[in-house]
Amino acid sequence: MVPPQTSPTSRGFARFLPALRLDTIRGKLLVFALLATLIPSFTTSWISYLENRRSLTAKITGELQSVSAQTARELDLWIKERLYELRVFASSYEVSENVDRLPRAGGERAHRRLTDYLRAVQERFTDYQELLVVSPGGQELASTAPQPTTVHLPAGWANAIRRDNAVVGEAYWDSALVKGAIVFAVPIYQTGGRFLGALTVKLDMGAVHRLLRRFAGGEASRVYLVTTAGRQIVGSPAGSTDLLRLAGDAPIVRRLLEREGAAAAGRGVDGTQVVAVLKRVPQLDWAVLAETPAADAYRQVTRLRNVTALVLAALLVVVGLLAYLLALLITRPLDRLTRGAARVAGGDLEVQLPVAGGGELRYVTEVFNDMVARLQESRRELERLSITDDLTGLYNRRYLMEALANEVRRSRRLAHPCALLMGDVDHFKEYNDAYGHLAGDEALARVAAIFREATRDVDTAARYGGEEFVVLLAETEAAGAIETAHRIRARLAREDKTKGKLSVSFGVAQFPEDGDTPEALLARADAALYRAKREGRDRVLRAPPAP
Ligand code: GH3
Ligand code: MG
Ligand code: MG
Repeated sequence: MVPPQTSPTSRGFARFLPALRLDTIRGKLLVFALLATLIPSFTTSWISYLENRRSLTAKITGELQSVSAQTARELDLWIKERLYELRVFASSYEVSENVDRLPRAGGERAHRRLTDYLRAVQERFTDYQELLVVSPGGQELASTAPQPTTVHLPAGWANAIRRDNAVVGEAYWDSALVKGAIVFAVPIYQTGGRFLGALTVKLDMGAVHRLLRRFAGGEASRVYLVTTAGRQIVGSPAGSTDLLRLAGDAPIVRRLLEREGAAAAGRGVDGTQVVAVLKRVPQLDWAVLAETPAADAYRQVTRLRNVTALVLAALLVVVGLLAYLLALLITRPLDRLTRGAARVAGGDLEVQLPVAGGGELRYVTEVFNDMVARLQESRRELERLSITDDLTGLYNRRYLMEALANEVRRSRRLAHPCALLMGDVDHFKEYNDAYGHLAGDEALARVAAIFREATRDVDTAARYGGEEFVVLLAETEAAGAIETAHRIRARLAREDKTKGKLSVSFGVAQFPEDGDTPEALLARADAALYRAKREGRDRVLRAPPAP
């Protein structure tokens, strides 16, 4: 047989349950109070936490949506303005004429005039890092830069520029300028409509950066410009020298692209947990990502949740303590009652419980005390009955034997004397025959009363048999016993004789001279009594010397 396997958790739980003592009133009260506190307060706290979080999420989403939409609109406007300016310059006579003349005679002069024009324009616009004219084949024809530089025009730009009337390149890090830059280009046409090339400008991305910064801050603390492929172009937190050097590839962008304008939580551009909203920039594969750190966004509800948890914990401690005290108040008298009942069950009737407080427990305690008192009374009565003879009220034979054994032991220990007196009513048979059995009983009761009255409290007067009586006299020698016997005889003699004369014969034995055991003493007293009978009755004889 393989013993059943228990998991460590279930074993731990099994150990925990008895420790709770759910079988006791105290345990039950405690668990009930804790549950009654915990369930409603935890439920309401949890609901309010969820509600708060939901409304906060709605507020944050609204703010992020507004920031991203505004930024995207401003960016779109910025691009449109730059392209519009470029188109104005490209359509200038100075440009088309001079570009047309470049390959011909006097090209030198045309080049100079073109360059001067470009420089004049560039000086007016601080965001224009370099302004240049590119041939349809991609060669630089004229530039504001003293040295030839690389032009970052996308592949197939020559066709695109004629189709769209503009080309917007990708943002890149320009090592010559030591800046993030982006290339915008518009076509240059001859008056006849011939395509001559492109007027191209390298724009400082710092302008875009400033624009993003304008909208960042507040609740929506960060705004990024990203490509729809998820690559970061510019972000509001970066310094201007870091532009386009951040290899940011936020996975959240791909998720947000699928549901533009909706908020989502996840890892943001810098890898921390954020709540973010994304908005595409029209006509370009750019998007604006507005994000706010999740920790900041939910700080209020998190604080509220922590405070609630603390209050709840404190409440549990207080309620637990109160329940424990209440349970003590109830169980202490119950414990006393239980212990009292156990003592009574064990035979101890000397129990009296303190009656305190009020209500049912006081009543039960009073009833308990009363019950124990009655039990005590009836036990005493039973004890009395068990050692008393019914007819005469004297001790019975069983009690006499016990008392005699005790007295012999005591007298032996103290080396003191004690005496035994045995009496038998004379011719009682005849008395019965003459007056009837009932009268005989009454006569026995009267004789017994005389025995009781004629002896001391410390003596034990008992009915030994039918009409036989024995008196055990403590601390008494045979002479004392003989005297007692004569006292009994004298009183009997004074009795009313209308219902016949009664006399008693006595035998006396003394401890330890006549016998040093109860049996020997009884036998010696009996022998003396027998002799008293034989010698004529109504007399007292001491036991003959032991053989
Ligand atoms: P003696 O002792 O002097 O030799 O003569 P006796 O007649 O007393 O002789 P015995 O001891 O033989 O008889 C005792 C009688 O006592 C017998 C019995 O009927 C009577 N007796 C014993 N117990 C009771 C009792 O409880 N009530 C009544 N009425 N009679 C009893
Ligand atoms: Mg007899
Ligand atoms: Mg007799």
